[in-house]
Order: sequence, then structure tokens, then C-alpha cells
Amino acid sequence: MTSPTPISRRKAIVVQKYGGSSLADAAALKGVAKGIAQRVKEGTQLVVVVSAMGGSTDALIALAAQISEHPKRRELDMLLSTGERVTMALLSMAIADCGVEAISFTGSQCGIITNDRHADARIIDVRPVRVEDELERGRVVIVAGFQGMSYKREITTLGRGGSDTTALALAAALHADSCEIYSDVEGVFSADPRLVNEAHLLDTMSYGSLESLARNGAKVLHADAVAWARRAGIQFSARKTGSSAKGTLVSAAKHSGVQAVTSSDKRLWIAASALTQSPIQALVWASHEGVLVNSENLHEETYGEACSTLSIVGEGLLDNAGLSEAFIDLCAPVLGWWSSDYGLHVRLTADRDLKALTRRVHAALIEP
Ligand code: ADP
Ligand code: ASP
Ligand code: MG
Repeated sequence: MTSPTPISRRKAIVVQKYGGSSLADAAALKGVAKGIAQRVKEGTQLVVVVSAMGGSTDALIALAAQISEHPKRRELDMLLSTGERVTMALLSMAIADCGVEAISFTGSQCGIITNDRHADARIIDVRPVRVEDELERGRVVIVAGFQGMSYKREITTLGRGGSDTTALALAAALHADSCEIYSDVEGVFSADPRLVNEAHLLDTMSYGSLESLARNGAKVLHADAVAWARRAGIQFSARKTGSSAKGTLVSAAKHSGVQAVTSSDKRLWIAASALTQSPIQALVWASHEGVLVNSENLHEETYGEACSTLSIVGEGLLDNAGLSEAFIDLCAPVLGWWSSDYGLHVRLTADRDLKALTRRVHAALIEP
């Protein structure tokens, strides 16, 4: 899956990723470029993955919606992949103006190969030959996140928030020394800090717990990114752009107990009887009654019932006698509940006040 380690490695390779909120306008972008140039001058080889400038992916989706009610997913990919291309070129220019050589590449130029599931593709291989060549030449490589090329040579995108996955998949392929994911929050919190004032920063988190948190709605990381890090054994950190704080370190180290709570209102429940008629592919959590699907990247008509989920994550939750009852009681009435290796989850009707419920669960079940 990954390319061999270059033999003549002199400097540490660090992969950084900057999200849309860190690149919202020209001033923010120039600030990021300055920091990158400084780090390179200090002796680090940098690969920098960028998202589209804040809000621009949403703007492109809204534009497509004005043109067509059900645009083809292939054409959406052609459109949405342009957002990250804008940022990569601008950041490369800004870094050059700081006196450091930089070159930008699209996902396909970096050798990011995906399956052919448009709008929600999975990376199946990374062959970063061009990235390695440019690093050898002493350049900073800027990569458009969120996109790749399918084995049919079609442009694909990785699902909302997918730039994180570009960064971790590249870090794995390059055998990078570390990976730093920068956003507008200090790291991973015990709940979305925008919803819960009392949420606290988690200094460390295991791959499994964070993957479960992300898969069940926490936007702070893309779940597939965490899966790449877990498989490659890469420790990475989630940090705030412009801050020198260490943020959250994500590794294989385990922690028992409830670490965080998350929710999602972008779920569809497909009854088992309707499954044979459904065009939906995968991204599902199976149960004997039907399947739960993330609706965020579907962009098409589906035959399901809108619902919400709320999850608590951490290790060994089922060993804690009484925890599942307490959780279900707090969330009542629930349509159903299930457990996974790293969490307990409930399915709720779509009309529930998730903000209030998240606060209640955080106050009752998460230690300060
Ligand atoms: P970026 O654009 O940099 O990729 P995102 O908006 O995708 O950033 O992710 C950061 C956001 O994730 C934060 O602004 C925060 O509101 C949200 N978030 C949700 N759950 C959590 C959590 N448990 N910890 C930290 N942030 C969270
Ligand atoms: N720009 C894409 C999105 O808004 C990908 C990303 O930000 O990671 O979902
Ligand atoms: Mg994101």
C-alpha cells in the first residue's frame, strides 16, 4: 500500500493540514504561509495539506443546487475538488513570497488513488513519487486535500471533512515523522466546545475512541483519517492554528472510561424491508432491524427515515455496570441502542433537542 522509506533522509518530514477556517481569507492564508516558511527555515521538510477556504465548499454545493436538483455525483466531484485547488495555489504563492520554494499538487498528482464511489470515495493506495522528488529538491509541497483519482482516472472526493484523511494517508505513505492537524479549536474536547461550555480539552485519545467519536458526528476529525493513522501506527496531534500548545495527541494508548460525547442529526434509518430498493452504498451500521446511514455525502434521493444519534465514547464502557442503563435513561425515549468497541449509542427521533441532550449527558457521565 505504501512506498518504501527514502534511503537518503536528512531532515524530519512533517505533514501538516490546515482546515478551511484557518484559511478563511487572504490575511489568514498569509499568516499560515509565514509560519510554514519559518518552520522550513528551521530545518523541517514540510508537506502541507489544505482544505478549501472557509465556507467555499458549501458555496459550491449551493451553486450546484441552483443549477440542478440532483446533480451527478461525478460532476459534483469535478466542481467540489476545485475549492482545494484554489487554496493550494494561493498558499504556494504566499510561501514563495516568504522566500521559501513551494510547489502545489492536486490529489491525483500526489498519487492518491481511490475507489470509484464519487462524493464519498475511499483512498485505496498512495504513490507520492512526485511529492518525494520535490521534498528532495528542498521544496515545501502543498497538497489539495479532500480529493484523489479513481483507478478509472476519474477525479473523486473523499466526503465532507476529507482533507484530514489526505493528510494522514500521505503521512503514512511518506513515513512522516509526525502529522499535525490544525483547525479553529485547541484539539479534541470532551464534547463540541461550541455546544457545551464545560467541555474540556483531552490531552490524549486513542485511535479507536476518536474514530468512534468522528464516525458518530464529531466534526473535529474525519473518521477515515483516524483509521489511516491507526493502521499505519502514526501518532498525530490535533491543534489550533497559530497556537504553540500541544493540543490532543492521538495514539494507540488506551484510557478507560467515558471520554467524550457526540451527536449527529445527519442520519437516515433504512428499515430492513426497504433495503432491496435502496440505492445507498455502504457507510452503514448494521442491526437486525435495518441500517443506519450517514446522509451527509449522499446528495441524492433516498428512502429512509431521518433520525438522530447520540454517542458516548471511550474504552471498556460495557464493563461499567449500570452505565448503559444510565445513558439510555438520560436519553429516553430512545428508538434503539447499540454498543461498539469504543462506544455506546442511541438512535433518536429527528425532532430531539441534541444540544440540550448533549449537555445533559456531558454533565452526568463525563468526569471533569
Ligand atoms: P477544519 O475546517 O479545520 O477542518 P472543522 O470545522 O472540520 O475544522 O472541525 C473543527 C470543529 O469541530 C470545531 O470548530 C468544533 O465546533 C467541532 N467539534 C465537534 N466536536 C468536537 C470535539 N469533540 N472537540 C473539538 N471540536 C469539535
Ligand atoms: N472542503 C471540504 C469540506 O468542506 C473538505 C475539508 O474541509 O476537509 O468538507
Ligand atoms: Mg474538518
